[in-house]
Amino acid sequence: MATRGGPAGQVAAPARPVPILTYHNIGEAPPGATHRGLYLGLDKFRRQLEMLARRGYRGVSMDEGLPYLRGEQRGQVAIVTFDDGYRDNLELALPALREHGFSATCYLVAERIGGYNAWDSELLGVRKPLMDLAGIREWLAAGMRIGSHTLTHPHLPQIEPAQMQREVAVSKSVLEQRLGIAVDHFCFPYGDHDAACVAAAAEAGYRTAVTTERGRVRAGRSLLALPRVGNNGRRSGAAFLARTLLWGLSGSR
Ligand SMILES: [Zn+2]
Repeated sequence: MATRGGPAGQVAAPARPVPILTYHNIGEAPPGATHRGLYLGLDKFRRQLEMLARRGYRGVSMDEGLPYLRGEQRGQVAIVTFDDGYRDNLELALPALREHGFSATCYLVAERIGGYNAWDSELLGVRKPLMDLAGIREWLAAGMRIGSHTLTHPHLPQIEPAQMQREVAVSKSVLEQRLGIAVDHFCFPYGDHDAACVAAAAEAGYRTAVTTERGRVRAGRSLLALPRVGNNGRRSGAAFLARTLLWGLSGSR
């Protein structure tokens, strides 16, 4: 991995650790669905947003959160991210986010827009509808942002290097062309990444890339391999509150 010059060399320098929250589906898991932890009921999601707001956190997109990650801006923010681009993000999460004046980033699978989760539908036993282009435009018009989650959602370290680079770079240009906006943020499918994948994200020109490694972002972290905080349906409201209280304590360091 490059350590000097260029985006790969950029590291986080936040004044206080920044949580990046991870969500997938908002809503109840359909009957028969496995991996139910990928779902968070709307009530629970709303309670989490309320707790954040009450604790003084503002939920922000990756674009809005970047100056905080870099240490250029100070304040209590939680970056809100959604993986895969499900329709329920638009229909259920968006109104709840707007109630609090929060924004969020949704990572889209560029060749699956308007389709379903073809990469894991058999494993999960359910086809989950993804936002179509009109839905994504609605998401953006409401002040939300997007990032890339590759073309087809592969395990990047397991595919041919040229194909891996294409998934990382071409997904960015496809989304930029189809939506007419800059796409500066990337999310590794399944959190899978290695040094070559991080270098590919740098080469493609992304400013940040997120993983599924757990934790808040502390100073010295590469902006192209950022840890996140999971918020799946198994975590109770009390556990989420306890976590945000702990953030307050360690945030004072
Ligand atoms: Zn994903």
